[in-house]
Amino acid sequence: MNHLLLQSSDLADLHDKVRAGERLSEDDALRLFRSRDLNTLGSLADIVRQRKVGNRASYILNRYINYSNYCILSCQFCAFSRKKRDQDGFELNVEQIVQKAREALSIGITELHIVGGLHPSLPFSYYLDMLRSLKALDARLQLKCFTAIEILHLAWQAKKTLRGTLQELKAAGLDSLTGGGAEIFRPSVRSAIAKGKESAEEYLEVHRVWHQLGGRSTCTMLYGHVESIEDRIDHLRQLRALQDETGGFTGFIPLAYQPDNNLIEVKTAPSGFDSLRTLAISRLYLDNFDHITAYWVGLGMRLAQVALSYGADDIHGTILEEHIFHMAGSKTPQLQTETDMIQAIREAGREPVQRDTFYQVIRSHGNPKSAAS
Ligand code: SF4
Repeated sequence: MNHLLLQSSDLADLHDKVRAGERLSEDDALRLFRSRDLNTLGSLADIVRQRKVGNRASYILNRYINYSNYCILSCQFCAFSRKKRDQDGFELNVEQIVQKAREALSIGITELHIVGGLHPSLPFSYYLDMLRSLKALDARLQLKCFTAIEILHLAWQAKKTLRGTLQELKAAGLDSLTGGGAEIFRPSVRSAIAKGKESAEEYLEVHRVWHQLGGRSTCTMLYGHVESIEDRIDHLRQLRALQDETGGFTGFIPLAYQPDNNLIEVKTAPSGFDSLRTLAISRLYLDNFDHITAYWVGLGMRLAQVALSYGADDIHGTILEEHIFHMAGSKTPQLQTETDMIQAIREAGREPVQRDTFYQVIRSHGNPKSAAS
């Protein structure tokens, strides 16, 4: 870090703390959020990123599948869910899902990311059948499926315990839970944007039990709507505490709010400044997380690429068919090619690596000779 810049920064005293690997407090996080010194913030986050992963930055070859957008809830921020009476509602049968997987396998994907709404009537056997059929298609395919609220919904519908539900899904082939649905944990914000959804305690309990069963998962935070900076810090604090307890989170994925087609009055997405500082502070505060993902679907690939210098070490994946963010107004493409992701990482001066669901390296493309080449 440039010491002249550092000496004139209002964050100078945090430099020693970060260099020493000391844990940041909530007050430290608040100071970081209040600072306008984005470059110093990025430099601090880069110290931690470098310590965790060296010069690597990762991507994954994956495919999204939404099995249905029917949902019994009506979260205010959600542009994805539909009721049975809606003409653009859909649900896929297992063979249709397998067909989508078969097509994606032919281009080399290693992961399916499968989520849906809280379907009013699909039986538990549908989800088991889906997992078993996909594993039968290719046992190496990693199945990252279901948000915490979906898991609770399946358990409630099937009248099973949470632990029993997760055990059956795991036995059928579930490899990882997704991190979706965390939104913002604080109850006042949660009821303003996702009334009726599971509480923070329930979200965390689903992941806790999954981790106790030997499973891994990611976690998220939806930022840039009605929440305060203090709400974000409270959210990060609760994730860090569960990670201290279980160590089961593989990575953290901040999600930039998308403002279209919903009931929330905020009509702009978070700025580039806000997204970069949120990623950087996440990297600094979540000292027990190995990976921070810059989710290009919400940020755009250009900002995701810049985020690699602000604490992020992963830009997510090819995705192929994204609906949830795009129905909420995201203007990004619905897919990325592997070539473009490698190029974006390499241009940022990092060594591009293809990873699997658990952030394990599948293939390295080598260190870039020159950031500008
Ligand atoms: S966010 Fe999820 S639970 Fe809420 S309405 Fe949308 S699909 Fe349903």
